[in-house]
Amino acid sequence: MSLFPIFVKLEGRPVLLVGAGPVGESKVGGLLSSGAAVTVVAPDATSSIQKLAADCKVVWHRRKFAPSDLDGMALVVAAVPKDVARSIYDEARTRGVLVNSVDDPDNCDFYYPAVVNRGDLQIAISTAGHSPSLAQRIRIELEQQFGPEYAQWVEQLGAVRRDLFATEMDPEVRKQQLHEMAHHRPEGFGGQPGPGARAGMVYLVGAGPGDPELLTLKALRILGQADVVLHDDLLTPEILELIPSSARVECVGKRHNERQVTQQEINQRLCAYGAAGRTVVRLKGGDAAVFGRASEEMDALRSAGIAFAIVPGVTAASGAAAAAGVSLTDRRLGSALVFLTAQRCKGNPPPNWKAVAELGGTIAIYMPGGHEGELAGQLVAAGLAADTPCFVVANASRKDEQVVETTIGELPGVPKLPAPALLLIGAVAGPNGQASTRHVGSAQKVNKTGRSY
Ligand code: SAH
Repeated sequence: MSLFPIFVKLEGRPVLLVGAGPVGESKVGGLLSSGAAVTVVAPDATSSIQKLAADCKVVWHRRKFAPSDLDGMALVVAAVPKDVARSIYDEARTRGVLVNSVDDPDNCDFYYPAVVNRGDLQIAISTAGHSPSLAQRIRIELEQQFGPEYAQWVEQLGAVRRDLFATEMDPEVRKQQLHEMAHHRPEGFGGQPGPGARAGMVYLVGAGPGDPELLTLKALRILGQADVVLHDDLLTPEILELIPSSARVECVGKRHNERQVTQQEINQRLCAYGAAGRTVVRLKGGDAAVFGRASEEMDALRSAGIAFAIVPGVTAASGAAAAAGVSLTDRRLGSALVFLTAQRCKGNPPPNWKAVAELGGTIAIYMPGGHEGELAGQLVAAGLAADTPCFVVANASRKDEQVVETTIGELPGVPKLPAPALLLIGAVAGPNGQASTRHVGSAQKVNKTGRSY
């Protein structure tokens, strides 16, 4: 009868080890690393098992085996002479507990396979006890074939698989991409799918407002796997330094390039690198899906059948509120928070300023573009009180962060701050919205008269 191969989750399950000599000792490590709750029964134990017992890693009963030791056990390992193993085996069978008697196939329900361990990749080999030597030889051959780099590669495949399942892509396309990725060998340590592999992945990653510590752990991990990074202008040098030196880096921002890279060209590059099997990071300031043209890029990727995933980031309004030392919302003052931009696509209508003015919450205006005075005028004309508090925050979370506290009425007279800057408007920006002990954590803050504080 053939053996039934399985990998068992032992975490938290009680396992009995009978015998605590050198043979028993060799079995403890594997059980503990799978999280089993190990009880040892033996009149004597090696010093390392005694230490494990003293450290409460195992429970040691210093006596001979008794059949009641089997009660409630998931598995038993017997590292004892054959006659004792036989009685353990018989008792265990009547209780339905599976036994391994070391080097004693007749008294075994299960065998220890020879194992190639590469992290979560485990290759187990069994000859059903016929030839442990053959199993060992095969293990050595497989170890040469599947090097240590597979541990990391398997993890990466798992991460990409989870990301793919989080997307809305066609299950057939997903299946095909996963097959293709797994088909290629990892290239040395860090194993990306080899060039020529067709299963690429594009990550739209939000890098936060500038402070590298505001990158998420996920963003950092994915950045570390990037073959290609396409970033915009908002990225600080500190964040760009986190890109692995092996990655190809392209700035596709509007300000940096003499020749402006059009959105269409960015879409094409993302699709082309993705189609070439690359792990592509489209690195954006703030949150990837806030005023960042992410929808256009996703549309292009979707039509090209390239897998993608969004990695959210800390949006500039959050960074600006932290810089100003205020909460973006305050239930005592209102219940709305609006993100809007003064920039708009050709042909789109302007924001409904009246509706915005009447909301009675916080208004975060992205990309004021130096038109702060004009924006203030529009809001006042739409009915917003001229004494509504306002912060202008430039370079939030960066070394050159600046915060100006003013009112909508006085905003037109405030000296222009450098880009990127954001307006936070509403009662949260006023005295009632501020903590009684004002947070001043920024490199430079100036009030409306231009004085630093
Ligand atoms: N996706 C970004 C927004 C891109 S639009 C996000 O979620 O934050 C670009 C605008 O964001 C800038 O014009 C500015 O208004 C704002 N911005 C980005 N980073 C900023 C920063 N560090 N400080 C202040 N405003 C910032």
